[in-house]
Amino acid sequence: MSFIPYGRQDINAADVAAVVEVLESDWLTQGPAIERFERAIADYCGAAHGVAVNSATSALHIACLALGLGPGKRLWTSPNTFVASANCGLYCGAEVDFVDIEFATGNLSVAALAEKLQQAERRGSLPDVLVPVHFAGQPCDMPAIRNLADRYGFRIIEDASHAIGARYGDERVGCGRYADITVFSFHPVKIITTGEGGMALTNSADLATKMRRLRSHGITREAVEMECPSEGAWYYQQIELGFNYRITDIQAALGLSQLQRLEAFVARRSQLAARYDRLLADLPLGRPAMQPPMASAWHLYVVHLAEGSRRPVFDAMRAQGIGVNVHYIPVHLQPYYRKRGFRPGDFPEAERHYAAALSLPLFAALSEVEQDRVVTVLREAMGAAA
Ligand SMILES: *Cc1c(COP(=O)(O)O)cnc(C)c1O
Repeated sequence: MSFIPYGRQDINAADVAAVVEVLESDWLTQGPAIERFERAIADYCGAAHGVAVNSATSALHIACLALGLGPGKRLWTSPNTFVASANCGLYCGAEVDFVDIEFATGNLSVAALAEKLQQAERRGSLPDVLVPVHFAGQPCDMPAIRNLADRYGFRIIEDASHAIGARYGDERVGCGRYADITVFSFHPVKIITTGEGGMALTNSADLATKMRRLRSHGITREAVEMECPSEGAWYYQQIELGFNYRITDIQAALGLSQLQRLEAFVARRSQLAARYDRLLADLPLGRPAMQPPMASAWHLYVVHLAEGSRRPVFDAMRAQGIGVNVHYIPVHLQPYYRKRGFRPGDFPEAERHYAAALSLPLFAALSEVEQDRVVTVLREAMGAAA
């Protein structure tokens, strides 16, 4: 039987045609498809500006720089995330720390954040930037986090790598109501893909300009941004140290085409998630906890297994060709972060989540027959592990 991965892209003939059209055009990169992609995503989410880059990791980096993160500044994020959500702070020379999660949702705990902020205020070590991560596609409690940001004066970059198409009530993630900048990933396992790619959304023209410059070497061709007069039509000026984080038109065309099916992808993912809920209802495991009015994009379907059974269940399912996965190894437990002083026990809920978590296959093209097989194999594996 064929292997069922935990996530995979869904590419159709229209996606292929869109890419071929760019390949046959005059622009493979820095052409018109990129701006169209940026406009389309920003409009869809209700944001003023979109800055497309070659990955969410790059988007997080330039978002941090645009918000002034640097040596002597502090970034806080969730330990239950991919390492990129924390590394972006270290790229800037800032100090990185974590806020423990809520076990049930895997999202950053507002109570833990409020407590840590109180302590930090007393010590004079408040964060400059907070990176909440919308784990599995369900938005964090952004209204509460926004209130704390207003009270303590930190900026917010939402790591919405899992959450394009998710909503906080009536508004879409990325609209900028709660965050300064929102970042999406278009890696093939995410909701829509460009192969590799990412985007930063913001309602601030100033932040968008800064991020556009940082994406391309810190260079500007706009006279208004230059520090001395233009010397002619060829002229460009590097006014800060940037990078080559550009996305290609080939990728942007794929992303534009994928965006046409975003709603259908999210609808299919939530239908499959509801079906998992029904099929697993009688099993002794924790199913994903939902927090209305937040509506998940359903990047992941993560169950919690009883202590000690995750490893045998994982191994048994992999042996049967089911590509289960684990999200996430807490970032503070990575050797690189341990060398920076973090220890087991620092963020107990994230560690408890890690010990129990198992991500079941979930992607738009997963068939119900395949999903039934996942559930059958999970039942057998849990029976054997019990
Ligand atoms: C995938 C992911 C990233 C990194 O995305 P890339 O586009 O691969 O750089 C960052 N944060 C989270 C939470 C992710 O899941």
